[in-house]
Amino acid sequence: MKVDLHCHSIVSDGVLAPAQVAARAHANGVQMWALTDHDELGGLAEARAAAEGLGMRFVTGVEISVTWAGHTVHILGLNLDERNQAILQGLADIRIGRETRARQMAGRLEALGIPGGYEGALAYAANPALISRTHFARFMVAQGYCKNMQQVFDKYLGDGCPGNVPMQWSTLEQAVLWITDAGGVAVIAHPGRYDYTPTQFGALFDQFKDLGGTGIEVVTGSHSPAQYAEYAQVARHYGFLASCGSDFHSPQEGKLDLGAIPPLPSDLTPVWRHWA
Ligand code: AMP
Ligand code: MN
Ligand code: MN
Ligand code: MN
Repeated sequence: MKVDLHCHSIVSDGVLAPAQVAARAHANGVQMWALTDHDELGGLAEARAAAEGLGMRFVTGVEISVTWAGHTVHILGLNLDERNQAILQGLADIRIGRETRARQMAGRLEALGIPGGYEGALAYAANPALISRTHFARFMVAQGYCKNMQQVFDKYLGDGCPGNVPMQWSTLEQAVLWITDAGGVAVIAHPGRYDYTPTQFGALFDQFKDLGGTGIEVVTGSHSPAQYAEYAQVARHYGFLASCGSDFHSPQEGKLDLGAIPPLPSDLTPVWRHWA
């Protein structure tokens, strides 16, 4: 079965509407699909209707921004109740901080010779409540300040770069609680992307597990094949369920298209054992 449990629509920083993401996933042969917009559940109703119309198994999802040990970690929530009031309110609170941060980032970029960043990024954000670094990056590439998105993050907006404004997102404890209280499964997204020491990684996995987190993303567009093997080993060691997803944002950006992910190692227990 072809499964893709991580991707984005215009409700966060993707470029396709939820129904268009569903259609593309289906056209690419995906049989079980989750939409996981950043800090937003607003695309799920449209996504579900489109998926079910196409005969594709739909899984509700979200990707929550968390700050842990001074760095951003993304926690996926899968198969949760999207009407749960606590998670809806919690995500609304996270989104409020994005507006102020966007204005601050625009100020930093202006000082670096890139004016008009706030209005520029906003023009790319179909959901103004969810303005993200991706929208700034699209603006900067379109204006010719950088050749591509990667260059924007390498030079200006990546963690520690001069245009970036560090954020205090939600806590790990809060994010896992929102997800599990809404009946969902919490999954550490793309662990290979985090800049932690081995000791910190161990503490992150232990704490996540103690809090009731049960899944880890093993196969994702953000991992190299060597990292598939590395995080498969982490899943075995901690007894985590394994997840997989393209992290698709746009047909023009990123490494993997919807559904274009290699299968999980066959000895791992897939996260969809929870609901399928
Ligand atoms: P934000 O939530 O506003 O901090 O933006 C984070 C988003 O930026 C991620 O979800 C990715 O979509 C995007 N992003 C982060 N790093 C990179 C990168 N190196 N290249 C392209 N996109 C990136
Ligand atoms: Mn994103
Ligand atoms: Mn992410
Ligand atoms: Mn993502």
